[in-house]
Amino acid sequence: MQVKRLSALSDNYIFLLHDPESNTAAVVDPAEAQPVLRCLDTLGTELIAIFNTHHHNDHVGGNRELMQHFPNLCVYGGVEDRGRIPGQQVFLQEGDRVEFSDRVAEVYFVPGHTRAHIAYYFPSISLEDTGELFCGDTLFAGGCGRLFEGTPAQMVDSLSKLRNLPDNTRVWCAHEYTLKNLQFALSVDSQNPDLQTRYDRVKNARRQGEATVPSLLGIEKLTNPFLRWDDEAIRSEIGSSDSVRVFGRLRGMKDVF
Ligand code: ZN
Ligand code: FE
Repeated sequence: MQVKRLSALSDNYIFLLHDPESNTAAVVDPAEAQPVLRCLDTLGTELIAIFNTHHHNDHVGGNRELMQHFPNLCVYGGVEDRGRIPGQQVFLQEGDRVEFSDRVAEVYFVPGHTRAHIAYYFPSISLEDTGELFCGDTLFAGGCGRLFEGTPAQMVDSLSKLRNLPDNTRVWCAHEYTLKNLQFALSVDSQNPDLQTRYDRVKNARRQGEATVPSLLGIEKLTNPFLRWDDEAIRSEIGSSDSVRVFGRLRGMKDVF
């Protein structure tokens, strides 16, 4: 399974999964149809599935148009999103599995950004490849999604599930927010050498117009403050040793950063 990153709207990413053997493709969170159709055209391949993480328009905006081009494709989303994802046919919950080519994704229920958000995790199948995590707007490179429909407690629970995955997991998040996220991270975790190194690397990458997605989960665990509510330096910066309180404060500070 190959993953292709497509840019959409102002700062969204759409991910196209391609299986060269069966010459089929699936797409994660098609914000719009055109970039997907162009990529499918170049590959000369057929779209068989849409995997949606949540109902926001910058994630499902291309569903209808893609369905018109590929009437047989299957639209997946979370069960709690029933009625909110255009064309949804499969209603997934925690622990469900979905297949694409030779890979099987595990579904995680990760409410917080929205009350229905899910993530798709494809474990690695050999020593040479990586796990692939499609986490929508739950976990970002260096940050996390805003809490539109959920509480800090829910989000800590959701991010804990993702934090438990192996370090060697590529994090395919849906927006290019990394530089701004790391600027915030430095403001609350200034003595973290891994974070400083990462910030310098990302700053250079962005200066050259390079994407910073995917990132690696191992690096997120070391540098993303929204996965580090139990880190002593961050706890003392925030002035609490309660995980939910630390997370909630961080999220509130980021909202106005
Ligand atoms: Zn969203
Ligand atoms: Fe989004």
